[in-house]
Amino acid sequence: MAVPATREPKRDARPASGASTATTEATAGSATRASLRGLDYADQVQLLTPSGGAPTAPAATAATVQMKGEDEGFKKVAEAETPLSQKDTPDSIQLPDEVEKGMSEAWGDSFPNKKSQEQGGIMVREKDGSYGFVRGAAGKSGSFPPNYGDKKADQEVVGSAHTHPYDESEGGHEGVAFSGGDIANLVYQPDKLKMVKAGETEFVLVRTAEFQKLVDEADTEGKKTLHKEIKDTWNSAFKGAKGDFVTRCEIAVKATVEKYKLSFYKGKEGKVDRVDTSK
Ligand SMILES: [Zn+2]
Repeated sequence: MAVPATREPKRDARPASGASTATTEATAGSATRASLRGLDYADQVQLLTPSGGAPTAPAATAATVQMKGEDEGFKKVAEAETPLSQKDTPDSIQLPDEVEKGMSEAWGDSFPNKKSQEQGGIMVREKDGSYGFVRGAAGKSGSFPPNYGDKKADQEVVGSAHTHPYDESEGGHEGVAFSGGDIANLVYQPDKLKMVKAGETEFVLVRTAEFQKLVDEADTEGKKTLHKEIKDTWNSAFKGAKGDFVTRCEIAVKATVEKYKLSFYKGKEGKVDRVDTSK
């Protein structure tokens, strides 16, 4: 079955009102900062310390890194045989270091020649139970086709992740959450969870038992209808929402997540907290 690529909301073509909304990511030299963002302290020390320097690596740092890779919230979702019911999805999720590091690099690569280009990859679970991230080929300005085919035989796909870059000509938005297509594509995609990195802000969607039931009960035609209805829900919520582009996108996501009983998370640096979508 063809797995659709993500497709982002129509760009806000108006120039940003006020230069202050221009993103730092769109400026030269920002890729370095962006790629440092979200890395562990130990990694940052390594990157920032000139060779020959002797940074003291406190033992506590290594312990912290190890704990982060074994986050209970993430494991609960990633290791569930079938999707968790919505009420059982964790309050917070710490993404594995490999994912956070890979997506920080992906964000750093999302503005070649100051033009937006989505990047991303897949989160995999290795045979030994550890987690990895496999970068895919670059996407387009407004879409990224997850590289599920890169999964090796002894790996399990846990989810996918992609960036949401908006360059200056597109308004320079940061913090743009999932598109209607990103959510609707869960009908066809294998993701247990899906991540979007939109600058410093990161979002995660977790598939639930309630959502899976809708998918499982639908035949081929029913899945098409469900896919369309999810996108329509997002679009009509976006149209009816007040506020700027970023705010309206998040309102649309919350409305869609609430209706289809998914779980939605927001945060930064690999740590996301569940959003109350009933408000
Ligand atoms: Zn997207």
